[in-house]
Order: sequence, then structure tokens, then C-alpha cells
Amino acid sequence: MIQITTSIDDVSRQISLHEGNYQRPAGSVRLLAVSKKHSAEKIRQVHANGIVEFGENYFQEALEKIHILSDIDLIWHFIGPIQANKTRGIAENFDWVQSVDRAKIAQRLSDQRSSEQAALNICVQVNLSAEASKSGIASHEVESLCQLVSELPKLCLRGLMAIPAPMTDFNRQRDCFRQLNLLFTNLQRHYPDMDTLSMGMSGDFEAAIAEGSTLVRIGTALFGERE
Ligand SMILES: *Cc1c(COP(=O)(O)O)cnc(C)c1O
Repeated sequence: MIQITTSIDDVSRQISLHEGNYQRPAGSVRLLAVSKKHSAEKIRQVHANGIVEFGENYFQEALEKIHILSDIDLIWHFIGPIQANKTRGIAENFDWVQSVDRAKIAQRLSDQRSSEQAALNICVQVNLSAEASKSGIASHEVESLCQLVSELPKLCLRGLMAIPAPMTDFNRQRDCFRQLNLLFTNLQRHYPDMDTLSMGMSGDFEAAIAEGSTLVRIGTALFGERE
């Protein structure tokens, strides 16, 4: 408990520091706690320290925690690869989906979001050129997927997300995030609801904040190593 409180303070302090150092307005970078592989009990402790947004990658694991924690008001983000047979559960149980990278998934999420629920907040996941990962849509196809998402009735296009290949060199990290920011600012002119640039994890969030991130997704630096 004391440990988790300390790491939340540390991460929050670093975010504020980077905002100041890179001429970002105070409070312009939100913290998403990535809780995959960590227990509902730990999430409760993190929430007790003022964090309300949590990110999960695995649908079954997430669903269990969402049910256990239904007595508290949390904002859940799905950030993992999406199988088509999981879209209903994701559409019904999450507030945000950050890993939309193809039209079929966008269409299903909109169709399966219940009519009583508000529109599902969406970030399109971009595969920046140098990435070995299979997730994410290529940069030149981002615009057409954003167009589709913006037209679907139960989706709200909020932004872009990317997971660059791990790099230790700070300037190379920045180069990568700068590309995403460029795409983002171009799209923002057409899509007024776009306000979220989701980039930066435990190992590269300083570079992401320097390049305009509005949401950092932090797991290890908050919770410690995953098993
Ligand atoms: C696991 C994960 C994170 C958090 O990574 P850390 O390095 O533990 O901070 C962020 N974003 C996504 C999409 C993830 O899968």
C-alpha cells in the first residue's frame, strides 16, 4: 500500500515536471494506470490514491476485475489486440477502446454498443513505420479509418494511440512520437472531438510528453513488474 502510494506520487511528479520542462500546460497530460496482470485489490489501492482511469489488455481478465470493482466509479480503457468474437463484451463493458485498427472491428463495436449507453470513445491505433508489431493500422490508412469511426453512430472518435518498438535512445523515441503528433494535428482539423494523443509508457513517457502526448499509459512504473 505504502509502496504503491509512493510510486503514484513519483509518476505524478514526473509527469508535472515534464509538462513544465517541455512547455506543456499544467494538467494537460492524463495518467492511465495499466493494470493488466495486477489484481483487483491493487486497482482498489491505486484508486484510493485518486487514479480513476485504468487500462486492460485481456478481455476475460478485465471482465472479472470490472465486476469485482463495480462498486467504485472507474473509467475502463481496452488497450489490447481485439479479436472479433470479443467485440460485444468490449463494447458493453468499457468506456474507451484505444486499439481499433480495422474497419470490421469499428463496425462491430458500434453495432454492439447498447442503445442506452453513451457512445464508446475510440482511439485508432497506428503502426508507426519502424514497428515490428502487427498491431495498428499503417499511417497512410489512418485517415480513412478515422472517417469511418467518426460516422458510426455509437462511436466517438477521440484520438490516436501507438506503441512504438522499445528504444532506449531519447531522441529516437522523440522522432517516433513526433510522427504520431503530426498525424494527430492534421486529423484534428477535420474531427473536432479528437482531443486524445495516447502515447508514452513507463520507458518512454518523457519523450512522449515532449512531443505532445495527452495520455500516458503507465503499468510497470506504478505497479512494479508484471508476473
Ligand atoms: C502493457 C502496456 C502498457 C504499459 O506498459 P509499461 O511499460 O508497463 O508501462 C501501455 N500500453 C499498452 C498498450 C500496453 O499493452
